[in-house]
Amino acid sequence: MESNNPSTCEDLSRAAGSFFAHIDKKPSPPSVIVIGGGISGIAAARALTNASFKVTLLESRNRIGGRVHTDFSFGCPVDMGASWLHGVCNENSLAPLIRVLGLKLYRTSGDNSVLYDHDLESYALFDMDGNQVPQELVIKVGQVFEKILKETVKVRDENEDDMSVSQAISIVLDKHQNLRQEGLAYKVLQWYICRMEAWFAADVDTISLKNWDQEHVLTGGHGLMIRGYYPLIEALAEDLNIKLKHRVTKIAQRCNRVIVTVEGGTNFVADAAIITVPLGVLKANLIEFEPKLPDWKTSAISDIGVGNENKIALCFDTVFWPDVEVLGAVAPTSYACGYFLNLHKATGNPVLVYMAAGRFADDLEKLSDEDSVDFVMFQLRKILPLATNPTRCLVSRWGSDVDTLGAYSCDLVGKPADLYERLRAPVENLLYFAGEAASVDHSGSVHGAYSSGLLAAEECRKNLSRRYGISDFLKVVFREEMTEIMVPLQISRI
Ligand SMILES: Cc1cc2nc3c(=O)[nH]c(=O)nc-3n(C[C@H](O)[C@H](O)[C@H](O)COP(=O)(O)OP(=O)(O)OC[C@H]3O[C@@H](n4cnc5c(N)ncnc54)[C@H](O)[C@@H]3O)c2cc1C
Repeated sequence: MESNNPSTCEDLSRAAGSFFAHIDKKPSPPSVIVIGGGISGIAAARALTNASFKVTLLESRNRIGGRVHTDFSFGCPVDMGASWLHGVCNENSLAPLIRVLGLKLYRTSGDNSVLYDHDLESYALFDMDGNQVPQELVIKVGQVFEKILKETVKVRDENEDDMSVSQAISIVLDKHQNLRQEGLAYKVLQWYICRMEAWFAADVDTISLKNWDQEHVLTGGHGLMIRGYYPLIEALAEDLNIKLKHRVTKIAQRCNRVIVTVEGGTNFVADAAIITVPLGVLKANLIEFEPKLPDWKTSAISDIGVGNENKIALCFDTVFWPDVEVLGAVAPTSYACGYFLNLHKATGNPVLVYMAAGRFADDLEKLSDEDSVDFVMFQLRKILPLATNPTRCLVSRWGSDVDTLGAYSCDLVGKPADLYERLRAPVENLLYFAGEAASVDHSGSVHGAYSSGLLAAEECRKNLSRRYGISDFLKVVFREEMTEIMVPLQISRI
């Protein structure tokens, strides 16, 4: 499949190793290049390899996993990208694999809402003077926030044009003065908004009112992967033909073949390509397409938003914090609020993970590692004055990381509803697209990215089989194989 400057269609057929190129010899299976070794690319490569296709996966980094990035340098797993399985239920496409691998989950909430991926009773919120906010107030303001959001649905119904969630909240509060909060309650409300921003990785003034609650959230609540997400990647990637440090710079379609060029100039030729690079990378035009992608595709790329989320993980000698899942700091604006995920509760390891989203995550990335940690420790000492110094730290920069350029996709105000479908749709039956932003039902998630990889692989397999007259008996079997083994999901804190 690797080739030096193929010039004729014959050269290309030979390089792709396709069925017709060797008609006089033993036929080779169809060949596919998968671009990107995150969960979607690995799922696609796994499925097509299982279906006996010739698959090469090109990954720019020196590791696989992409936005699934479990770091082990603390001596325990810490997920610096995805960490929750959203939807702890059998319908979750990842459930069969999680079961088979015996991976345990720690359920932080049984609630299906996108707003409450942690149960209310597991929060400990503090003001910036270190005083804990009474739990009754936290719960009461949570209920007020729910009422406000219900009222925003009426605002949506009354207005044809889309608007931001923050604009709708202002309209609701103007209309229903009783829902307005003062003093500490106001700060707690800002904290709830901060949590909402964390779900979307975007600020509330950029989140679309029309779309924010349209996501099909799976049942079963939210569960942290106790051993981290990496074991899933590792299992799926076993024995795949993966080429690390191969950054794709150009994708050309010629003579019904795809030529993929990587940094340094090496070409790879195949019958089709599955493109799973993050939306941020597509937006930044870091890959040249020849011919150019059609307008319906480029407009989808530019119209879907990409949010940002970052984590600063801190490992301590001892646990000095309360035994709750989330420690929060309330403040007069959602930007100034903050929260720490207590991994000790779920995993027993003395680790706190500070999480920041939206513009605040962008701003945090501009600081050096040392300054970011100092800032976070400053926040922690405001709420817990006796906090000790961390022994080790990790800092993510998903927004400026050239292999990601953003955390995950989000709905911008006033954009059409078919964008995810357009991002997913193949081009000329040669280029297939997968990844979280190409997931119509579950964008922004690991399970959505995984399913999108399987879907792209299945579409690609069908079309290539049809093109080369191969019978349909080689199915993408991975998921079906797995579902047959009905071991229960292992969940703690039910
Ligand atoms: C901080 C954070 C927290 C998150 N939390 C959760 C969570 O708790 N639960 C959840 O379900 N989801 C979560 N997500 C989202 C989830 O991580 C993603 O939706 C999912 O992992 C995306 O997988 P993917 O395969 O689409 O993309 P990626 O994992 O980004 O894979 C794309 C791959 O393409 C590679 N690549 C980029 N450019 C090139 C190139 N030019 N050539 C070759 N390769 C290239 C990249 O290196 C990468 O490996 C989180 C994401 C972040 C950033």
